[in-house]
Amino acid sequence: MQALVYHGRHDFRWEEKPAPRLQQPGDAIVRITRTTICGTDLHILNGDVPTVTPGRTLGHEGVGVIVERGSDVRNFDVGDRVLISCITSCGRCDYCRRQMYSHCTSGGWILGNKIDGTQAEMVRIPLADTSLYRLPETIDEEAAVMLSDTLPTSYECGVINGAIKPGDSVAIVGAGPIGLAALLTAQLMSPGAVIMIDPNAQRLQVAKELGATHIVDNSKDNAESAVMGLTNKMGVDVAIEAVGLPETFDICQQIIAPGGHIANIGVHGKPATLRLERLWDRNISIATRLVDTATTSTLIKTVASGALDPSRLITHRFCLNDMMKAYDAFGHAVREKAIKVIINATGC
Ligand SMILES: [Zn+2]
Ligand SMILES: [Zn+2]
Repeated sequence: MQALVYHGRHDFRWEEKPAPRLQQPGDAIVRITRTTICGTDLHILNGDVPTVTPGRTLGHEGVGVIVERGSDVRNFDVGDRVLISCITSCGRCDYCRRQMYSHCTSGGWILGNKIDGTQAEMVRIPLADTSLYRLPETIDEEAAVMLSDTLPTSYECGVINGAIKPGDSVAIVGAGPIGLAALLTAQLMSPGAVIMIDPNAQRLQVAKELGATHIVDNSKDNAESAVMGLTNKMGVDVAIEAVGLPETFDICQQIIAPGGHIANIGVHGKPATLRLERLWDRNISIATRLVDTATTSTLIKTVASGALDPSRLITHRFCLNDMMKAYDAFGHAVREKAIKVIINATGC
């Protein structure tokens, strides 16, 4: 089969490799129908993720059809259309019992990291019963791909950890795919205002179309003074960090109101300064999390019902055989005005 294989820093190819086979009784083999590329995949190609070794098929998101299942798989049959979760979980370990599936002692984020992933014609999914989700007939498959990672990440690490309540003022720092997905899922909580902060005018325009009540271009304006101007000098009740840089985390610390919540989604590679001299008496909380995909079932229903439409994040579509073109577009997201790309195995 064909797969997107990592060979080392900045070296990746769409190439032939053997199709996956069942290894454990709990495995299922899934034929991929649609997949996508995540910002994390770009970090891997940059050499930032040491657990990914040469020869690894990348990708941790996708939708497909089960073509083979191990003898222990009970929840699914061959032919079932399934969503692949970016997090693999056993459902039994101490972390899984606490719904912290991201820290599952035999799973967690392993797909496209420690085992071969979804950017391929086929993928082996271990612990299939607790790591796959059956998709409702009515759900749009392209929208469903956003349920593997993008939506649960933004919802769990941003919206739930930010504890957004009806009427709250919310600021989201970063209008990339995750920041925009946080904007979409935040609206499920009926916030009073959502301020989007980003240095890219085009992405801010998209944010407006997706429901941001205010936009702040921090390439031109100081984010702190702009937010204070919009909130009666109070700051925001919830600040969501969706970039992963010391500077963007710092913006959250500058704009948080007393009693507020800072929710970090970004993947941080460098130390960020904690401004305790400013925050110690402000009754704030700071939350971090790796997506647990504990809300995936809920989000599937929300998307299937039409209450949430993540297909609005999709800007580009490619065929599976054009995977390298898809990487080029997603890797030059600003130039290409790309948010999420969908890669289709059928209909090409
Ligand atoms: Zn991802
Ligand atoms: Zn577990």
